[in-house]
Amino acid sequence: MITQVENPILEVHNLTVAYNKKPALWNVDFSIPKGKLVGIIGPNGAGKSTLIKAIMGLIPLSSGYAKLFGQDLNSVRDKVSYVPQRESVDWDFPASALDVVLMGCYRRRGLFRWLTKSDKTLAMDCLKQVRMEGFADRQIAQLSGGQQQRVFLARSLAQQAELYFMDEPFAGIDATTESAILELLSEMRDDGKTILVVHHDLQSAYEYFDWIILLNTRLVASGPKLQIFNPKLLQQTYGGKLSVLSQMGDLLQEKEFPVRE
Ligand code: ADP
Ligand code: MG
Repeated sequence: MITQVENPILEVHNLTVAYNKKPALWNVDFSIPKGKLVGIIGPNGAGKSTLIKAIMGLIPLSSGYAKLFGQDLNSVRDKVSYVPQRESVDWDFPASALDVVLMGCYRRRGLFRWLTKSDKTLAMDCLKQVRMEGFADRQIAQLSGGQQQRVFLARSLAQQAELYFMDEPFAGIDATTESAILELLSEMRDDGKTILVVHHDLQSAYEYFDWIILLNTRLVASGPKLQIFNPKLLQQTYGGKLSVLSQMGDLLQEKEFPVRE
């Protein structure tokens, strides 16, 4: 089930990516309208991080392409922001939380311009939005996983982009902060930003997102969440992992799922 979109902000065409000749994404094809909060959902190893890295030009493609704002990434880079999955970052980098967020301002303004006082004000404001203003001077290596994650979110906000890719931004974050950040992302969406979020909790995905991409190496579905959350598509995505699906029983109004052997 793929919902076709007119004037998409992101188009992915026939995208195939392989590591050591083993495909991690196979012929993935979808498009996303502007102004949506989009969940990328699928089991571990489904290729969710690979999809974002491929769109961001960070890994070689075996075939296919992605267009952002109808163009190649290189022409629109300053309108695009990426928050990597926490495990993929080297946190020994010597920088304070504020320095990391200021890097977001550099991305926006270009490396060869001095940062101004208003950049610093913006960076502090972004730290505040993720409730990390009290840690501005702390070295990032000395923050907890969830706190590091929030600093990276603040850096992304400081870029003031139009299109955001966030890889598991809620990993290691407490429930209160998660809902504060979700509220922030929803406000950004209401302002016309488009945000794609890799998320692994199916239950909250239904609550959080407008649009869902179901992925398991192949694209299973992409569309408005009400069309996507049905037992057949979730079964196709998660296979026989009934424990995940049975949590969804109430939402799907169906308690029994066939288990694939
Ligand atoms: P997800 O983010 O959905 O958990 P990934 O995109 O990280 O999945 O990985 C998809 C598949 O590709 C997995 O089987 C994973 O083991 C493999 N993979 C990911 N990165 C690499 C890599 N750098 N080298 C080899 N295999 C990789
Ligand atoms: Mg991942």
